[in-house]
Amino acid sequence: MAEENIKTVALFASKLGYQTRSFEAAARKLGVQLVYVTDRCHELNDPWGDQAIAARFANPEEAAATAIQSLRAKPIASILALGDAPAVAASYAARGLGLSSNHPAAVEACHNKLRMREVLRDAGLFNPPTSLWFRTIPLSPAPEPSLLAIQYPCVLKPLELSASQGVIRANSREEFGEAVRRLARLLERPDLQMKNASKTREALVEEYIPGIEVAVEAILLDGELKLLAIFDKPDPLEGPYFEETIYVTPSRLSTDQQLAIHRTATQAIRALGLSHGPVHAEFRLNDHGVWPIEVAPRPIGGMCASSLSFVTSQNANSIGLEELILRHAVGEDISTWQREPTAAAVMMIPVPASGILEKVDGIAEAQLVPNVTDVQITARLHDQILAWPEGSSYLGFIFAKAESPAAAEQALRKAHSKLHFQIRATFPVEHPVTGKVLD
Ligand code: ADP
Repeated sequence: MAEENIKTVALFASKLGYQTRSFEAAARKLGVQLVYVTDRCHELNDPWGDQAIAARFANPEEAAATAIQSLRAKPIASILALGDAPAVAASYAARGLGLSSNHPAAVEACHNKLRMREVLRDAGLFNPPTSLWFRTIPLSPAPEPSLLAIQYPCVLKPLELSASQGVIRANSREEFGEAVRRLARLLERPDLQMKNASKTREALVEEYIPGIEVAVEAILLDGELKLLAIFDKPDPLEGPYFEETIYVTPSRLSTDQQLAIHRTATQAIRALGLSHGPVHAEFRLNDHGVWPIEVAPRPIGGMCASSLSFVTSQNANSIGLEELILRHAVGEDISTWQREPTAAAVMMIPVPASGILEKVDGIAEAQLVPNVTDVQITARLHDQILAWPEGSSYLGFIFAKAESPAAAEQALRKAHSKLHFQIRATFPVEHPVTGKVLD
């Protein structure tokens, strides 16, 4: 391809790993050049080391200004983002460069859990007259639960983390007090302070929404929502912590329920003001209706995207989510691509306990389970692993494809039963004077 015809896409990402490699492969296939903007430059090795632009996503406007300075030199076709904080910086940068993107105010609203609740409540999306109560609380000094107007069960969550990190259900005043202490301790961690210290002094508390949960993967094409997949989450997510496990698509919910999810997703996205590009959202369903839990202007995280493949009637070869997003980013019409007809499922392998991961057995046996397409252990041996609510990384991922959603789910469970993780418990070390737990 002639040099002048090569389109360049800027990819804002904190983690450079599996998902960025998938974008890299898709870019190579489509003849697109990727430029990385990242706040993890110390992690960059070849092949990206000489290309990445360093930016601090904790200050999105500053990050955008830095990126714009470097990106101005060459024509950029589009800007994409992986992760919540990069998405905010990316939207400012896209605006600065005059590229199609979500409005930064919309992306900011999705990134802050309190703001998102306010917008969704004001748009009537919490099933009035039932509605949903929520409020912020200071974490330090810890509030006295009896003085707060809260009911139980409720859910405490950090304002700006993701992957359910720090999300805790409390069923009583005692559990609430313990959850506040645990969340405050978590948010003192240096890595989380570096992300955004000002957002670590308070937390959101909201009503616990009972019901089943689904995830929606979609892409906005000129403001119109193209639904790519509804994933059922067959394991109950009732707390006290909310580590994800299995996602299965297509959904086994009734057509009416799926239409209601689609409708609520469309309304929530409009209310938040999103108009462009990938969307990942979570909803709960119960007798009162569909409840938006979160809406994020980015694709599903990490390896989970590999459970999605897309085909068209003209194109027998399937493509992955990253390629679909990249095709849209460079201006291709992607309206005819649909998820493949096969059922697909992914298990985010739960972390049973915090400690040092010493050994993993049974990978070969798990890979041999019929309908299992891949088993990837992403946690590194001899590294510290953290269970939820402190944790945010899974041990790995199991993928399956089958004739039916039930068969795909079954395959994951069987494969998971073959895996054995040896985790050596570590004991917290307290500072001799302050009594604080040292990392
Ligand atoms: P994150 O962005 O860290 O994933 P979320 O707000 O999406 O945080 O919450 C993570 C998970 O916690 C949700 O997927 C859901 O299972 C559970 N959860 C969060 N809020 C509620 C709630 N109000 N009621 C019931 N479950 C909730």
